[in-house]
Amino acid sequence: MAKLDYPWLASLWRQWLQAKQQQGLPHALGIPWQPHAGSEALLEALVAWLLCQQPASKACGQCKSCLLQQAGNHPDLLWVQPEEGKKIGVDRIRDLQNKVWQHASQGGATVIVIEKAEQMTEAAANALLKTLEEPPAHNYLIICPERFSRLLPTVRSRLTVYPLPKPSLTEVQDWLQRHTETRIDNADLLSEAQVQPVAVLKRIQSGQEQPEEDILAVFQGQLLELPDKAPEQLAWLDTFLLSLVRGMRAAQRLELNEQPPADAWGQFLVQVPQVANLLPVWYDRALDIKRQLQGSGVNGKHLIQQLLSTMYMNSIQVKVE
Ligand SMILES: [Zn+2]
Repeated sequence: MAKLDYPWLASLWRQWLQAKQQQGLPHALGIPWQPHAGSEALLEALVAWLLCQQPASKACGQCKSCLLQQAGNHPDLLWVQPEEGKKIGVDRIRDLQNKVWQHASQGGATVIVIEKAEQMTEAAANALLKTLEEPPAHNYLIICPERFSRLLPTVRSRLTVYPLPKPSLTEVQDWLQRHTETRIDNADLLSEAQVQPVAVLKRIQSGQEQPEEDILAVFQGQLLELPDKAPEQLAWLDTFLLSLVRGMRAAQRLELNEQPPADAWGQFLVQVPQVANLLPVWYDRALDIKRQLQGSGVNGKHLIQQLLSTMYMNSIQVKVE
């Protein structure tokens, strides 16, 4: 089984380990459905561990139960998701109840996960209460709402709720660096990453997939296509800022007479080394635009275009000098 790669969730995992060794894990658990913060991988690891036939501090990944779970067809796991735009109806909860009362076919635990649990209709939630009151042994019900406040209070009060711990600034910074090989110093991006680390990582990675040449095309006077809406403009700016960071790093290596990186910035700066001094100025300006965009009523597209044309003009000036 893949290692759960979210260091900030380790304390929660330890709490479960301890509970399992002592009084046993509660049979009705509440875990927030926050995939942007790592809840999906956490749930998968938890479910695998509960179903594993020879669990240690996590699922073994090799027993029949683990293999069935990895293949996505474990008979004793029921993962309920609302269908697109629909509620979770009472019929699905009744089905699940029949399942709970059956003896687990692999001789171990039965696990039921209800994803986005606030999508249950009231009838469904009421039907669920019965199971929550008298959970049969070796059954785990994991209820995962996006917000606990949207669950029926009668359901909520029967759950042992485990909020997801948030990463510290250093934790999230190290984690992002390990996955992107880029040290992120942008305070705004880091504080956002504390709330939704997985989403921020994905964004940075997709930015890295976007070739640097796209941004460097500015210096050939090309117009870049910019998004129309503020949230996408913010994401675009994050990518752009990271690209400038890579540029500054390349510039630093050139200044130290080291081999420049073999990427587009490295090649560009060898040709136009004068641009190195301008990179921090552009970086500050891009950061400033980002701050303005987070407020409201500014035309982000216009501000970014202005910066890009300044960059183009600056680069021509330094070439001429
Ligand atoms: Zn196993």
